[in-house]
Amino acid sequence: MPEGRVHNLVNLTWLILVLLAVGGGWGLGWLEIGWLEVMVFAGTYLFMTFFLSPDLDLEQCNSRRHWSVLSFLWKPYAFLFRHRGVSHHWLWGPLTRLIYLMLWALPVLYWGQQYYGWSMAEKLRQMSGRLWIALGTGVYLPHWLHVILDRLE
Ligand SMILES: [Zn+2]
Repeated sequence: MPEGRVHNLVNLTWLILVLLAVGGGWGLGWLEIGWLEVMVFAGTYLFMTFFLSPDLDLEQCNSRRHWSVLSFLWKPYAFLFRHRGVSHHWLWGPLTRLIYLMLWALPVLYWGQQYYGWSMAEKLRQMSGRLWIALGTGVYLPHWLHVILDRLE
């Protein structure tokens, strides 16, 4: 199993390559995506790399350490999912972690909606197709790189 820092190094290298390609595409006038899409992609990509790694199905991993005092949130996840099982599935893996995180965040989301009128569901409904693509790419690209690297060893 490659160490977490190897996964992080590979993911960061790919992020730089993708951002350089986007910059090149902008320079040549081939891309019509805006800064917002790039920032959503990069932010999601970094969050998935450092906080929502597939290896959260382990008792000890870098991603879990990054959660610091909130690392206990992932103990049930590691208990529920055996290592390299569903958490490493090419499609379902990231969804299990996002849904799991949403379950923990439900009280905060409910509080935000009740007291501030902020609705995540409404924000998601307002997102453009391009933002959804940026978000999805930021979620899945680091996951796929992780899974491929796991299989190469
Ligand atoms: Zn792994």
